[in-house]
Amino acid sequence: MRAAVFEKVKEPLKVVDDYDSPNIDGVTGQVIVDITACGVCHTDLGFLDHGVPTGKSPPLILGHEMSGVVKEISGDVKLFKQGDHVLIPAVISCGNCFQCRTGRENICSKQIFFGSNVDGGFAEQIMVPAKDIFHLPSEVPLEEGCIIADAISTPYHAVKNRGQVKPGDWTVVIGCGGIGLNLVQNIKVAGGLPIAVDIVPEKLDIAKKLGAVETISAKEMDDRGIVGAIRKLTGGGADIAFEAIGNPATFKQAFNSLRTGGRLVAVGYSPKRWDGFDIGRVMFREMELMGSLGCRTVDYPRIIELVKNKRIVVEPLVTAKYPLSEINEAFDVMRRGEGVRTVILCQK
Ligand SMILES: [Zn+2]
Ligand SMILES: [Zn+2]
Repeated sequence: MRAAVFEKVKEPLKVVDDYDSPNIDGVTGQVIVDITACGVCHTDLGFLDHGVPTGKSPPLILGHEMSGVVKEISGDVKLFKQGDHVLIPAVISCGNCFQCRTGRENICSKQIFFGSNVDGGFAEQIMVPAKDIFHLPSEVPLEEGCIIADAISTPYHAVKNRGQVKPGDWTVVIGCGGIGLNLVQNIKVAGGLPIAVDIVPEKLDIAKKLGAVETISAKEMDDRGIVGAIRKLTGGGADIAFEAIGNPATFKQAFNSLRTGGRLVAVGYSPKRWDGFDIGRVMFREMELMGSLGCRTVDYPRIIELVKNKRIVVEPLVTAKYPLSEINEAFDVMRRGEGVRTVILCQK
C-alpha cells in the first residue's frame, strides 16, 4: 500500500507504494480500514522537526486523526461491516491498568498512540481493534470528521472532565490553533463565556465565529496588558483558564488572569520549566492547577453526537487538504503557521 514513512528527524517523509498492507488472516477482533483522511497535528511536527522521540523507533508511519471506510473484518466482528464509515481514536488504552479500571483510560500507563507506538494514519490502510473504533453517521463528513479524533476530543475532555466549565463561567483560552479553537467551541456548548487570546487576527476572527464572546489580540499587548484586559472583561479574573500553546510565558499569563479560587488547565505541552512559580498564591487563594491529556474513549459517542447535530462544527476548521503524495507540503503549511487544520486525503 501507499504510505508516508518517517525515517529520520528533519528529513521529509518518504512516500512509498510498497509498504506492507495489514493482513487480517488469523487475527480476531480486528477491522481493516481504508483511511479516508488523517489530520496533521503539531504532535507529528514534534516528531518530525524537533526530535521528540516516538514510542517505536522509525521507520514508522505517523498520524493519529483518522477517519475511513471499513474494508475487511475478522470473522468474529459483529459491530462493523464492510463499507461502514468509522472514526479511529488517537489512542488505544490497555483496559487493565489502575487508570483504565478507574475510568481514566486517557492516562492509561500502557496506552498505544497511533503514529508513535505503532504505525498511524498517513497510509492507505490500517488494522485496528473493532472495540476501539466508532461509527460515523452520514451527517458527519468523512474528510473533515477525522479531526474529531484529537482536535475536537482533546478539548472536549479538557472542558468537560477537567475544567468542568458550567453555564456562565468566564473562561480564557490562550492560543487559538486547532486545539484552542475547539476549546472555544466546547466552552460554548458547556454554556461558558469564552475569551480567546492569540496573536493572529484571522484566528481570532474564527474564534469569534465559533462562539468567543470576546477576543484579545496579544500581538499589540504585553503580559500586563493581556492580564489586565481579561480582569476587566471578567470583573476581577476568569473562573477557568486553558493554556493551549505549551509555553511557560503563556502558562503564567493564563494563571495570572484567574480570579481567586480559579482553575488553570494545561492543555498545551511544554518540556520547559516555570521558574519563580508562586506556590504561596496557590495556597492562599485556593488556586487549582491541572493537566489535561487526550480524551477517554467513553466520551466519543457524545462528541460524535455533538458534531452530527452541528453543536460542534468541523468543516470551518479544515483549512487545507492534500493528497498523501504531497504530505510534505502539508507539513510546510503547518510550519508556516497557516490555517487551522490540514488533513491528508489518504486514498488520493
Ligand atoms: Zn494530535
Ligand atoms: Zn490502561
